[in-house]
Amino acid sequence: MKKIKVNKDKCLGCGSCTFLYPEMFYLDEDGKAEVKEVKKIDEEKLQSAIDACAAEAIEVEEK
Ligand code: SF4
Repeated sequence: MKKIKVNKDKCLGCGSCTFLYPEMFYLDEDGKAEVKEVKKIDEEKLQSAIDACAAEAIEVEEK
């Protein structure tokens, strides 16, 4: 099981992840990305969001 997190200290609030994988990422009231609970992770969309994040703020933890 994977746990996805956004490191808010790194996040630039560019919105790329929310654009590429809106079912998982949204921008919170501070303009930083936040992760929604999803039943099943779309690996392809997740990878494209990770690749698009210039700040390398998206962290994947294997549980
Ligand atoms: S792509 Fe990265 S920097 Fe941009 S909003 Fe998402 S987590 Fe933040």
